[in-house]
Amino acid sequence: MTASRKPGFPARLGGAPKPAASPAAGARAAAGPAALAQGLGMDSDAVRQRMVRRLAQAGIGRAEVLQSMGSVPRHLFVDTALAAQAYEETSLPIGWGQTISKPAVVARMVDLLLGAPGAQAQGKLARVLEIGTGCGYQAAVLAQLVREVYTVERLRAMHERARDRLRPLRLANVHLILGDGMLGYAPGAPYAGIIAAAGGEQLPDAWCEQLAVGGRLVAPVVGAGGGQALMVIDRTAQGFVQNVLEAVHFVPLKSGVA
Ligand code: SAH
Repeated sequence: MTASRKPGFPARLGGAPKPAASPAAGARAAAGPAALAQGLGMDSDAVRQRMVRRLAQAGIGRAEVLQSMGSVPRHLFVDTALAAQAYEETSLPIGWGQTISKPAVVARMVDLLLGAPGAQAQGKLARVLEIGTGCGYQAAVLAQLVREVYTVERLRAMHERARDRLRPLRLANVHLILGDGMLGYAPGAPYAGIIAAAGGEQLPDAWCEQLAVGGRLVAPVVGAGGGQALMVIDRTAQGFVQNVLEAVHFVPLKSGVA
């Protein structure tokens, strides 16, 4: 496979500052005033908490998901010109024809993922695979909630930009991989959770194969009528249990690295 596994980052060199208490604080501490001017500045906390209240009202029940969404500076993952819209209930372009999902969809999918049948026994889910790193936002949200995040992106430029955007957050448990996520990422398998941010007509076999018993896969899948729906697949000791949930709109899952 043409994947290169990148270790956690940043490389901690001697004398590096201690990890920050929250990603937002980390971004502020590491990036300084220039980043504040570039984003929403000190106001972003208040705007983000408003988003969190909306998500709670919309039915996101897991406090830890709300807390994570409340701590990751979403505005730093989109272009400066779009930063003011970052906490609105809207999807946004992230370059190369791709989009970041609206906050409610990110929260919903992460919330579903944490409901994996084996989750309670584990405390934090051990390893999660994300297909479609995009700008890196959802990976940053997941990083607060699970032990290790493996995230695969097929577009080299997108992968590199995500690395740059994630660097100031100092999330040592996010592993960025350039590769074709339709092949999953075997070195990290089996996964307690797999979450896809791009939808095809079929679920690649590798995803089910790389899912641990007790694990859950959450992915958009294109149905017979051409529309996408969210699919949840649980792997139990007896086999796979599938549920199709609400309609969603994700970018297409494509094969190969570009
Ligand atoms: N979770 C992302 C959203 C990404 S948009 C975020 O928080 O920003 C979906 C991404 O999936 C796009 O960047 C697209 O290039 C990528 N993608 C599509 N097919 C893929 C594949 N087979 N392997 C890896 N990434 C893929």
